[in-house]
Amino acid sequence: MTDAAALPGQPRGEVVSGPATARAVNVLAPNPSAMTLDGTNTWIVAEPDSDLAVVIDPGPLDDGHLRRVIETAEKAGKRIALTLLTHGHPDHAEGAARFAELTRSDVRALDPALRLGDEGLTAGDVIDTGGVELRVVPTPGHTADSLCFHLPADQAVLTGDTILGRGTTMVAHPDGRLGDYLDSLRRLRSLTVDDGVRTVLPGHGPVLDDAQGAVEFYLAHRASRLAQVETAVESGYRTAGEVVAHVYADVDRSLWPAAELSVRAQLEYLREHGLV
Ligand SMILES: [Zn+2]
Repeated sequence: MTDAAALPGQPRGEVVSGPATARAVNVLAPNPSAMTLDGTNTWIVAEPDSDLAVVIDPGPLDDGHLRRVIETAEKAGKRIALTLLTHGHPDHAEGAARFAELTRSDVRALDPALRLGDEGLTAGDVIDTGGVELRVVPTPGHTADSLCFHLPADQAVLTGDTILGRGTTMVAHPDGRLGDYLDSLRRLRSLTVDDGVRTVLPGHGPVLDDAQGAVEFYLAHRASRLAQVETAVESGYRTAGEVVAHVYADVDRSLWPAAELSVRAQLEYLREHGLV
């Protein structure tokens, strides 16, 4: 879900299909909406001189899109050897089984139910396909199964829905938990501070060239929303619906159902910490 506030740094304008870094190319899926912004970014990642590529988030079950991803890789002289999922939401993962069939590649994900093939993904795994290194970073919070992929050679991180290229994301209660999400943002901050990550390649919206600024913005946004929710509860707003109508009055109503999940996650967090 999106808020009106602009992210720091210079988002790279419009979201378009094409190269974003030396090793990452976006193919934008045709599924725009209030929740998915311009549509899902399907990322093809490969070493420039390799004939093997990794795809992250094939996106919705849309044969035209899946075939465009394959054609884009083939035009660059690459075969898709592996598919990875940042999480199981359908706008990222629904097309994975069909994509695996078309490419004869395995699908690796944290959630065993989404895997096709023998291998899963766990914290600290390092993918090395055709020489391109992707480090698996566990980032639960948006969902319990959310992962990010650190691409050290490009000083970049693929963030799925944990950080978006525009606005902010939702904590999908009860699967997503706010405490986990804040820990995940701090983990991403340490990637920017200690590991030189500069670029966010998000699951939706434009590429961000100030990764640290984006993480700090997300942390500040979550803290200010949490304070607003706490104040609302203290003022007598009791149900999640009442809190949404009060705190998210500035957000488009089409996003209120998503906001309500985030509010439920925030109420749970406040109760667990004895704050309300
Ligand atoms: Zn999602």
